[in-house]
Amino acid sequence: METVRIYRLNNIPQSVKARIREAQMEAARVWNDCCQIHREARQSGSRWPNRDDLQKAAKGRYALHSQTIQMICHAFLANVDTTRQVKKNNPKMRYPYKTKRFYPLYWPEQAVSIQAGRVVLPMGRGRKSIVLKVDLPKNAGACKIVWNNGYELHVAIPVEIEKTIGEAKATVDLGQIHQAAVVTNTGHAVVVSGRGIRSIKRYRDKELGKLARMQARCQKGSRRWRKLQKAKNELAVKTSRQIRDLRHKGTRKVIDFCKEQGVTTLYIGNPDGVRTNRCGRKHNQRMSQWEYGKDISYLKHKAKAAGIESFTGTERGTSSRCPVCGHHQKPKGRTWQCRKCGFVGHRDVVGATNMHRIAYGEKIEFPSKITYLRPGKTRNVVVAATRAKVV
Ligand SMILES: [Zn+2]
Repeated sequence: METVRIYRLNNIPQSVKARIREAQMEAARVWNDCCQIHREARQSGSRWPNRDDLQKAAKGRYALHSQTIQMICHAFLANVDTTRQVKKNNPKMRYPYKTKRFYPLYWPEQAVSIQAGRVVLPMGRGRKSIVLKVDLPKNAGACKIVWNNGYELHVAIPVEIEKTIGEAKATVDLGQIHQAAVVTNTGHAVVVSGRGIRSIKRYRDKELGKLARMQARCQKGSRRWRKLQKAKNELAVKTSRQIRDLRHKGTRKVIDFCKEQGVTTLYIGNPDGVRTNRCGRKHNQRMSQWEYGKDISYLKHKAKAAGIESFTGTERGTSSRCPVCGHHQKPKGRTWQCRKCGFVGHRDVVGATNMHRIAYGEKIEFPSKITYLRPGKTRNVVVAATRAKVV
């Protein structure tokens, strides 16, 4: 299996930046031409272009490596395929139609050449290759150059699937205050705090609001307006990277715990449905910013690499039932207090405990040992960065 590693390309020379930009515009032209060919075929009712047709039409016409062009054609056809599938249920869905200005650059594994301390990305015969000073591992594969408020190099790296020994089962309850609560049927539980992520988000929202209010007083497009816009973008990407980092670290803690406990099957409760409830402006914003889909996909990816089988399913009703007597009540606050038998326990751990019944059809005891973890350190680097820009 593969994993993607991201390298920020902060210190590349201006000339290389200009070439990447130019190449990305060229790639966008390939995409736009694919769109055009496809649109014509659709409107004239003739056969839709396939891989060979698109590649034949594109051959030798662009200042890119031939495999880069091929990858764009494939991506386009994959997009058309997905649209056709989605269109069955949602007729409003449109085939690719937007004219793109930029498109990421791809190189499949066989086009990339890795040398000591640098990577060479070919641009086609007769053109200078893009050479980046990035120290990639020897086994690195396909590369992609993406714009994400600055260029990034995304590299596919093969990882070996580990073997986890044991037959324990675990469930995960995802949350916001606690990113994840894991309960195994061996009587252990881990709670990973999500407070770090929450505080970064809160800080970001407040600062973005401030900047937006300042911007509202400027004329749109003025120098100060642009300056504020830049500060907004920088704050947004910086915080999103911090959040992503914590999210990865938190899910890593979950999987490490599972490995240690000999867990081989993992059930991830899917909070769909919780999110659609309307509960006021503040809560709604919090809910809409909760990226549990990412948590699920990170957990699945990491579980797979660790040799743990994972699956998702509903978590309906798990947080409102007492794990001891089965009494049904609406939980209040962070600790679950049963009004019937007097049981007291951690709210998210209760959810994960009850999930065992849905996932594996067995009722387990409330865990006797709960470990609390933080995903990682949260550093306050953002504060200084924005202060300097705006004041
Ligand atoms: Zn009870």
